[in-house]
Order: sequence, then C-alpha cells, then structure tokens
Amino acid sequence: MEGSWTFLNNGSGYDIFLAWKSTQRNNKKNMVRVRFAPSPTGHLHVGALRTALFNWLFARHHRGTFVLRIEDTDVARSSEEMSRSILEALNWVGLDWDEGPIYQSQRFEIYRQAARSLVDRGLAYYCFCTPEEIEARRQATQARGEHWKYDRHCLELTDEEKQELREKGVPAAIRFLVPEGVTEFDDLVHGHIAVDHKNLEDFVLLRGDGFPTYHLSVVVDDIDTRITHVIRGDDHISNTPKQILLYRALAAPVPQFAHLPLILGPDRKKLSKRHGDTSVLNFRDKGYLPLAFFNFMAQLSWSPGNEEKIYSVEEMVREFSLERISKGSPVFDLSKLEWLNSRLINEMPLTELIGQLRPWLEREGLWSEELMTERREWFERLVDLTRSRSRTLVDLCGMIAPFIADRFSYDPEAVRKHLQNGELDRVLPLLEDDFRKLENFSAPEIERTLRERAEKEGIKAAVLIHALRVLTLGRAVSPGLFDVLELMGREKTLARMERLSEVREMIQT
Ligand code: GLU
Repeated sequence: MEGSWTFLNNGSGYDIFLAWKSTQRNNKKNMVRVRFAPSPTGHLHVGALRTALFNWLFARHHRGTFVLRIEDTDVARSSEEMSRSILEALNWVGLDWDEGPIYQSQRFEIYRQAARSLVDRGLAYYCFCTPEEIEARRQATQARGEHWKYDRHCLELTDEEKQELREKGVPAAIRFLVPEGVTEFDDLVHGHIAVDHKNLEDFVLLRGDGFPTYHLSVVVDDIDTRITHVIRGDDHISNTPKQILLYRALAAPVPQFAHLPLILGPDRKKLSKRHGDTSVLNFRDKGYLPLAFFNFMAQLSWSPGNEEKIYSVEEMVREFSLERISKGSPVFDLSKLEWLNSRLINEMPLTELIGQLRPWLEREGLWSEELMTERREWFERLVDLTRSRSRTLVDLCGMIAPFIADRFSYDPEAVRKHLQNGELDRVLPLLEDDFRKLENFSAPEIERTLRERAEKEGIKAAVLIHALRVLTLGRAVSPGLFDVLELMGREKTLARMERLSEVREMIQT
C-alpha cells in the first residue's frame, strides 16, 4: 500500500483521492462483494432475476457491494436494447447496484493481456488446430472407442513451427494447460465438490479471432472487482473447477461459490418459454406489484420463515442467509404470485396503491388531477371498494374504468346470461323511475328501492342485481352492487340502464 501511495502522490488530487478510497476499501477485509452478470442476449428472465435477487439480498444483508456486469462478449448475439431492458427490469424490482454496469465488450484488451500473461508463464499455450482438424481427430478417437478430450496437439510446437503457422495466417487460440490433480471446493449450497482433472480438457481462453471465452472474461472480471462470493445458477457448477484453476493461475484469491438450484415449471421440467412468458418485464406489464414479485421470487429456494406473510424488503434483507437456501429445485407456481399480489393489493396503504395504479390509469386515459383533489375522497372509496376483487393492477384498472369513463366493454357471456330475461324490459324502466325519485342515491336507499320494486313486480331481486351489474360495469362479477351504484352516481347508472336493448344487440351482431 505504501508503494502505491508514493506513486500516486505524484499524480493529480483526484488520483490521490482514488488511492485513498481504494486503501479504505482494501482495509475492509471481510467486506462482501458480489456481482450479477447477465448476458444481454434476451430480456431478463425469472431465473436470472432470482440470481440477481439473492446476490443483492446477500450484499445488502452484509452491507457489502453489489456489482452489475453486462456480459456482452458475444457481440453478434448481444444488443444494447437488451442491456437497457435488463436494467429496466432490475429497476422495476428495486434492485440497485453499487458499481457498474461494467460492460465486458469494453475490456477485450484486458482479457487478451491476461491470456498472454498465462502463456508467458507456461500456464497456457497457443493452439492452431482448426475446428475441422479437431473434429476429425475426435471422430477417430471415438471410433476406437476412446474418450475424447483435446489431445494437446499444439502443446509441443516449436517456436519455428508456430511462426510458420502464423505466417500462413492460421489463427491462434490460447488454451489453458490443465495440470494433473483434483480441484475441490465447498459450495455454500451443495456442499463439498471434487473434480478430477482427468475429466477436464485444456479449455480455450482466447479464441482464434481474439475474443475471450466466458471462462476467461468472467474470472478476470471477478478478480478485478474483488468478488468474494459467486452466487449463480447451478448450470454453472461444471464451470467452477475450470474457473478455480484460472484464479490460481492468475495468482488471485478464490472466491466462495453458491450455486442456486434450477427453477422448475409446474410440470417439474426446467422452466422455459413453454411455461409462458418468463421475462421479468412481462410480470410488470401484467400488473404485478414489485413487492409481491420480490416476495415470490425470493421465496423460490429460500424462506424467511413464514409462508403466509408478505415481507418488506428490509425484513428480507435482515433475514437473508445463504445457509437457508434449499438444495431442491423450486417450482414456479404462478398461483402463489397471484395470491401474494392480490393480498398485497388489499393490504397496502391506499395512497401507496393509488401511486402504483396511477401509470396504469394514465395509460388508459383515465387519470385526471381531479382524482387527487376535488374527487379524492370519492376516488379513494372507489379504489378501496374495487381492490377486493382485483388480483393485479390490470384487473383493478379495468374494474375502475367504468366508474370514470364510458368506454368499457361488455362481457358477452355475462350479457347472454343476465340480460336476456324479457321481464327486464318492463321492470327496469320502473326501477329507473324509482331511482330518479330517490332523495339520497346511497347504497342503503338503492338496495331498499330495488328490493321493494322486485317484490312488487314478482321478480327475484337477484335478477335485477345481476342485470344492473352487467349494464353498469359490463361484467358479471364485482364488489357489492349497491356500493357500486352509489359510487357510480345516479346519472351514469340511469344512462347505462337505458342501454338494455343496445347492449343486447351489440352482443348478437
Ligand atoms: N453471463 C452468465 C450467465 O448469464 C453468468 C456468468 C456467471 O455468473 O458466472 O449465465
């Protein structure tokens, strides 16, 4: 540390500040540093989000650092649009990062240097074999019934031979020279794992075109960002021994590993597109609340204790521990998410819910400042009434729409079921008159009037209630009708009652 101080003291004030900062950081010996490293080749899906979430919870629990790294070395398949979409998804769930995003595509030269340094130290070697040559040798080996792994054809090339191949323009990859032995590590989820190097081939670090492989870039970056714990999906377990060898070769401390069990669909097969759209933003667009989604995702593989409780983010941070992650594969059960979401919609403070709902209403052209000023009390009562029947913000927005605007659709099934009764043509106009005469258009008064009219006309009150529900809201299910009508107001109620024949016709055509 002394040395770097002397050197940097000759630099600018900012250099000195940076040096001081890094000294401070290095001094925090037990500081947890984790990273989330998505590849921007698609939208962020739920599997990757769970990895991000566990890294984030672990970092926050230990007051550590959460680094975000975008693994865009596959230039052809990565896109900036997908990187943006990933950041948007993390933001929506509420996962903030302390460092990054670090883009691997800006660090190619660093990976090349690392690979060359290993060649210089005899820990890696140039390989000029073409894919065709390797394929032919692989087939020949397998034809003899032997197991194939790269045969170190290029390990013993002389400098002259290498030079000759270079002059011929044959691209040179760099392969890691896997030593003999066994690599062992204690996975924080899966326990002790040992892999005999007999089963590892000399894997490629740098391709012939100069692009790094995943193993190289991931380890170089994890070393550079001083990652202490690598928490990722267990599809990466088989990569870990190779990466540990690389850490050692690069003379860096090996982090601890925790591999999270694969998420399964309800059919107990690997969760995939077949199980529906698994992109995180899709859940936002379907009207799930970030906190419900957070609870749902966090509880895949981990339980803070009480399955019945919705935890605040702070509570989850406090409770989180890697020890409590279960080894078994969790099942992605959407009904649990729906249950959490509707509970949260019903339990959260009204003003908070309105805040969440606002963008949805705005998008549908249903928002106005009035709802927050003159009509605030009415609006709060409306949201409070309708939330009981809503599983998502989309449901809630749809439920509220007919109270605010005239544009809403009629469920054809509900119309067929509840508006065909011929008696309605006779009784509804009478009821309209009753409603018009009411001094106070309040729920109890509306109920009393409706029941009296039903009694007088020899029609079941339920028939009128169902018909009114469909006429005023377009649907067969809603909170208590009398409260609905009171909130809807006399004018809208009467106007919609008059639409009986119009609505019937609409469904027939
Ligand atoms: N980019 C890799 C992935 O998306 C993650 C690599 C890692 O976590 O080591 O699977």
